Amino acid sequence: MTNSRFRAVEQASLREAVVAEAPAEATSEYFGCNVFNRSAMRKYLAEDTRRKIYESSEQGKTLDRETAEQVAAGMKRWAMDMGATHYTHWFQPLTGGTAEKHDSFAEPYGKGQAIEKFTGKLLCQQEPDASSFPNGGLRATFEARGYTAWDPSSPAFVIGDTLCIPTVFVSFSGEALDYKAPLLKSEIAVAKATEDLLRYFGIKNDRVISYLGWEQEYFLVDSALYAQRPDLIMAERTLLGHNFARNQQLEDHYFGSIPARVLEFMRDLEFESYKLGIPLKARHNEVAPNQFECAPVYERANLAIDHNLLLMALMKKVAERHGFKVLFHEKPYAGVNGSGKHCNWSVGTESGIGLMSPGKTDKENLMFLMMVANTLKAVYDHNGLLKALVMSASNAHRLGANEAPPAIISSFLGSQVHEAFEQLLNSSDMVKLKDKRGYSLGIPQVPELLIDNTDRNRTSPFAFTGNRFEYRAVGSSANCSNAVTMLNTALAQQLTEFKKAVDARIAKGCTAVQAILDETRETYRSCRDICFDGNGYSDEWKKEAKRRGLDCETSTPVVYDHLFSPETIKLYGDMGVMSETELKARQETAWEMYSKKIDIEANILSDLTMNHVLPVATRYQSILLDNVAKMKEIFNGKDFDSVASGEIENIKEIALHMSDARRLVAEMEEACAKALAAPDERKKAVIFHDKVTKYLDEIRVHVDALEMIVDDEMWPLPKYRELLFIR
Ligand code: ADP
Ligand code: MG
Repeated sequence: MTNSRFRAVEQASLREAVVAEAPAEATSEYFGCNVFNRSAMRKYLAEDTRRKIYESSEQGKTLDRETAEQVAAGMKRWAMDMGATHYTHWFQPLTGGTAEKHDSFAEPYGKGQAIEKFTGKLLCQQEPDASSFPNGGLRATFEARGYTAWDPSSPAFVIGDTLCIPTVFVSFSGEALDYKAPLLKSEIAVAKATEDLLRYFGIKNDRVISYLGWEQEYFLVDSALYAQRPDLIMAERTLLGHNFARNQQLEDHYFGSIPARVLEFMRDLEFESYKLGIPLKARHNEVAPNQFECAPVYERANLAIDHNLLLMALMKKVAERHGFKVLFHEKPYAGVNGSGKHCNWSVGTESGIGLMSPGKTDKENLMFLMMVANTLKAVYDHNGLLKALVMSASNAHRLGANEAPPAIISSFLGSQVHEAFEQLLNSSDMVKLKDKRGYSLGIPQVPELLIDNTDRNRTSPFAFTGNRFEYRAVGSSANCSNAVTMLNTALAQQLTEFKKAVDARIAKGCTAVQAILDETRETYRSCRDICFDGNGYSDEWKKEAKRRGLDCETSTPVVYDHLFSPETIKLYGDMGVMSETELKARQETAWEMYSKKIDIEANILSDLTMNHVLPVATRYQSILLDNVAKMKEIFNGKDFDSVASGEIENIKEIALHMSDARRLVAEMEEACAKALAAPDERKKAVIFHDKVTKYLDEIRVHVDALEMIVDDEMWPLPKYRELLFIR
């Protein structure tokens, strides 16, 4: 075996599980030990300072400069005791992922000496040289300045030798350049709108919080094999590769036992996550081979998203230690399930009232129906936008494909809640919600099962799941702030409208309860079309959804029109979450990112086809040609035809696939050049979508056919069966 691919495969299959540093103590002993949390603050901050920082981080009060100085001093001492020598403002630019620039605590002092310095100003504000982050034209070059500003509601943490401070990232004139700033504003908007309505239920001074529990799906691939795939390295997905005889047909991977080496990786990851206070709870195999999922216990949305991003970064690092690469791409392998990031979202109060959970009393259930009806209306009114916010060049492979949610937003309520609403339509009284049903299995030693009120409909993109909505269209690589910010903002706007209508009814002499009940009924009536409990993958649903006026567009760049529609501008503007300028910048960035991704993929595929695949195919073809020529010397006439015809067919087939691939690559390059010359970002992205992406599929057909003909030993790239089955 001389081929480098074989060396990589050998290396991969010999790798053994690295036994992770097994934590001796119980998780609770070290959970959050690298976080500047309440227990650390108790040791490093005075009582008065602590009170103020709690008010700031938990109740959103502004922190005065003097307190910030004291917090900075305490935080520095804590971080240095933890071994930190540097600090960084940690932020979330629109590129995805997180960014950081490390500065040393040490500053020159006197003659040739240094002193560790970290002031309140350095804690609160920094000016990273951020001119190269995407900003959709927000910052002209002459004021290409961006500021990061401390978000005290998400605690600082230490990784390695660095103190990391979660921050928002804004431009010189205050426009958001990141995901966090709008999210924080949306949390405020939804809290205010909900609290205003809760007063009718006698609930006061109980802060409303938006919660998020994400489920992160991912693939693992052996590092040695990954290193042999330029497409995985540069585009995070395989642009070619023949589907192997066995991929996921057996569905034996889902919830199967976790392979030893993967389990070691997971344990190690959990250990690192717990130290950073990330409350990981679930881990399991996913549907596809080498695909896995993890999920934490839900948290305040802002914190949950910081934790998700932190976890993604951590996963990459920990995977290295175990000889793996993590793939967050939504569709790394054709013909195999893709990865999503389900967002379980709800609103509730600080004291623990889940506003999206059915309650025990009529009052609680009215509150529940009110929240659900308003959520449905918010999603109905902005269904195109909700889709646009999670569409991307990579997620487009998932949405609408026959696996993950379709590219049409609808909501599944489950029979219990659905029936309650339908009953409400014809009744002026409060309706009863059915309890959980007890269910005996008829096996005496097995206790009664409590069947959940919600049935499961895996094809629904926005499903009610008992005490929350689960938005399933979000891609695995995304920063899910986009979606959560929108859900908070749209619910805030809808609740504000709802309250106006309720107040109008009360002004006419209606009781508050009756006004809310009547308005809930009418709200539900006006948005019933968003509810769908059938098979979301079926063609009938596509027709039906169109009839109902739901957004059925599948072209990513066209769907992005929603990012700057009059309704969107009004929505974010009215709720104080984003200005017109900020929205426009995001739309431009979305188109720009789309074009760049497709252009990169086209370049890689043309390179792989011309430099890797065709030369090898030519070599193999020459061997065959040589063989046939020699056969001709031995056999003649009919004999020759019968022994050589198969090989001659192969030679012809290779020739045809090669010439088609070569022609298509040239055409694709031309299409890319045309797209790049387009006068604006929208046109560019539309050309990439309409004229370039089809070549990515067409070229692959020929290359994958060649993979099946050419001698396995000569093939330069690790194959699907190796990428997917070596663990
Ligand atoms: P499943 O695979 O059944 O959807 P998981 O257990 O993998 O469920 O993930 C469910 C996620 O939903 C978890 O993060 C969980 O903490 C979260 N969750 C549960 N209740 C709520 C709620 N009320 N609001 C937000 N998230 C919730
Ligand atoms: Mg789920």
